[in-house]
Amino acid sequence: MTNRAIFLDRDGTLNEDPGYLGDPDKVKLFPDVGKSLYRLKSEFDFFLIVISNQSGIARGLITKEQVDLVNKQINSLLMNDSVSIDAFYYCPYHPDINPPEKLNCRKPSTSMVLNAVNNYQIVLSESYFIGDSVVDVECGFNAGVKTILVLTGNGRESLSILKKENNIPSFVANTFSNACNFIIKDLSGVN
Ligand SMILES: [Mg+2]
Repeated sequence: MTNRAIFLDRDGTLNEDPGYLGDPDKVKLFPDVGKSLYRLKSEFDFFLIVISNQSGIARGLITKEQVDLVNKQINSLLMNDSVSIDAFYYCPYHPDINPPEKLNCRKPSTSMVLNAVNNYQIVLSESYFIGDSVVDVECGFNAGVKTILVLTGNGRESLSILKKENNIPSFVANTFSNACNFIIKDLSGVN
């Protein structure tokens, strides 16, 4: 059995995105996220891996400690559905602040995905990327996984940009559970 993963953007995909989320008490998961992740984990044995740009750290708007606390809070909320994220990867840098050599990790670069592949022996051809932003779809393309744009967060705006670029994700989902259903059908070869 090979290891496969769902790579997940965080803000706007798993949780509401108020911008530079630093307060764990303000974490609000979208209502269908816990149950959907539980299915992907318990029935299909996916690693659940968050891949997130957190340039608010470079900008001095939030600290790494706050990002870690928010991530912890996400997992404690997910425990209501008996599931948790296996690993959180985030890139703290921003091109306005940091020199180019620091920016390697930033999506749409695949650097964080490839770190996860190394750490968990993930097979990319059996993996997926779910996100609400253009960079999520681009990162998924760059990594060679199937991409799902969710229309929560920035999803609608992202879709019109992606269409103009003729950069069409494998699937466009209205909600997170819709994205999860696409993956389950895809696994059974229905799509
Ligand atoms: Mg996002």
